[in-house]
Amino acid sequence: MNTPVTTLPDQKRIGMVSLGCPKALVDSERILTRLRADGYAFAEDYAGADVVLVNTCGFLDSAKEESLAAIGEAIAENGRVIVTGCMGEEADAIRAVHPQVLAVTGAHQYEQVVEAVHTHAPPSQGPFVDLIPQPDIKLTPRHYSYLKISEGCNHSCAFCIIPALRGKLASRRIDAVLREAEKLVAAGTRELLVISQDTSAYGVDIRHEARQWHGREVRAHMTDMARELGSLRTPDGQTPWVRLHYVYPYPHVDQVIPLMAEGLLTPYLDIPFQHASPKVLKLMRRPANEAKVLERLKSWRAICPDIAIRSSFVVGFPGETEDDFRYLLDWLEEAQLDRVGAFRFEPVEGAAANALPDQVPEAVKEERYARIMEVTERISAAKLAAKVGRTLPVIIDEVGEADEDGDIGATGRSQADAPEIDGAVYLRNVPATLQPGDMVSATIEDADAHDLFGAIAR
Ligand code: SF4
Repeated sequence: MNTPVTTLPDQKRIGMVSLGCPKALVDSERILTRLRADGYAFAEDYAGADVVLVNTCGFLDSAKEESLAAIGEAIAENGRVIVTGCMGEEADAIRAVHPQVLAVTGAHQYEQVVEAVHTHAPPSQGPFVDLIPQPDIKLTPRHYSYLKISEGCNHSCAFCIIPALRGKLASRRIDAVLREAEKLVAAGTRELLVISQDTSAYGVDIRHEARQWHGREVRAHMTDMARELGSLRTPDGQTPWVRLHYVYPYPHVDQVIPLMAEGLLTPYLDIPFQHASPKVLKLMRRPANEAKVLERLKSWRAICPDIAIRSSFVVGFPGETEDDFRYLLDWLEEAQLDRVGAFRFEPVEGAAANALPDQVPEAVKEERYARIMEVTERISAAKLAAKVGRTLPVIIDEVGEADEDGDIGATGRSQADAPEIDGAVYLRNVPATLQPGDMVSATIEDADAHDLFGAIAR
C-alpha cells in the first residue's frame, strides 16, 4: 500500500494493493485517478481505508496464489475488499476461497471497479472536492512513467492465456497516447516506458487510423508513435528517454533503429524472443518467428552500435530436446544480448501448451535453467566490462544519505537499463544537490555481471 495521502475532511478513503506487471500498475493508476476525481482520498494502511482494492495478477498459478494471499491479508486486516485485475476474470475461484469479498471485477473494467467502490463506500459529496485540480495519480516515481498504448493481443502463444484474460488487441487512439505522453513529460517525467502486449502491432486493429496531432496527421503505428515521442522535450529542453517494451521483430521495427542512432529514442529494445529453436518456436506458436533475426540484430548494431537488446526465454517448454536447448545456447552466444531473463516453463491453467506431449521433467528444466543463466551472465559480464572507462548518460533513481566521510552515493540507470527489470549504475561521491530524475554523465569505473559502478564525469 503506497498511495499518496490527501487530507480533506469526511472523504472516504481507499486502500490499494497493486500486484503484477507494469501493465497492472498502469491500471491501478487509472483507477485511483478516477476515484480521486470522484472525491475519494487514499489510505496508507489497511486500518485507515473504508474499502481496500486489490488489483490482482492471474497469469501464472504462482501469481494467482499470491493474489489470493493478498486478498486474504486485506480481508484479515480490513475486511472490506474489492478485487479487480486479471484474476478478477475468475470470480468463482476467488469467492470459493474468500466468500467475504464485496465485489470482483476483471482487468480494465474501470467503470465496474469505480461503480463497486461507489456502492460499498459511497463518496461524500463535499463542495470543495470537485473543484481541486490534481494531476493523474502515479504509482511509479515521478521521473519515469509507463505509457500503455494498447490492451490485449491477437496472437495465441501456446503458453499464454493473456488473450483469454484480456481479449483481442485494442489500441488506444494515437492522439490520446501522445497527449498523455506530452502531459507526463510536462509534469516531470524524463523517461517514458511504452508498454502493451505487442508494441509492434500497435494500431493494427484500428487500421492504423490517422489523427490530427499538432497540425499534422499521425497514424496509430509504432513508427509514427516513436517519431512523435522522440520529438517531445522536457520543460528544460532535454529529450526524454523513450523505451520500447514488448516489441516483436516485425520488419517495420527496422525503421525505429535510425531514431535511436539520432538520439531521439532510447537505444533499447525489449524483444521477448522466448526461444531460438525454430521447432520450439513453432510449438510455442510465437509471432514474428523468422530465421533472420541474427542478421537483423547485426544490421541494427551497425546503424546504432549502442543499442541494448533485452529479452526473455523459456526453458523446458514441452518438446524441447537437448538439441533444441543447445541450439538456443549457441544462438545466445551469437546474438550477444545485453539483458536476458530466463524462466522455467510453468503450465498455466487454460494454456494450450499443457496438452502438448513430451513435457520436460522438472529436474531437466532446473539443469537447463542453470546452464542458460551461466551463459547469459557471462555474456552480460563481458558486455558490461567493455563499458568500463566510457562516459555514459545516467538517470538518477535514488540519492543516498552521506556516510561517515560525508560521501553520498546515488543509484541510477544507463540507457541500457529499464527500471525494475535491468541493472543499475551505482555512483560514488555525488553532489548533495543531486535529485532523482536528474540526468548526468557518468564515467564507468567498474562492472560486475549485472551492474555498473562509477562517478559523475568531471
Ligand atoms: S504475444 Fe503471445 S505471449 Fe504475448 S500476450 Fe500475445 S499470446 Fe501472450
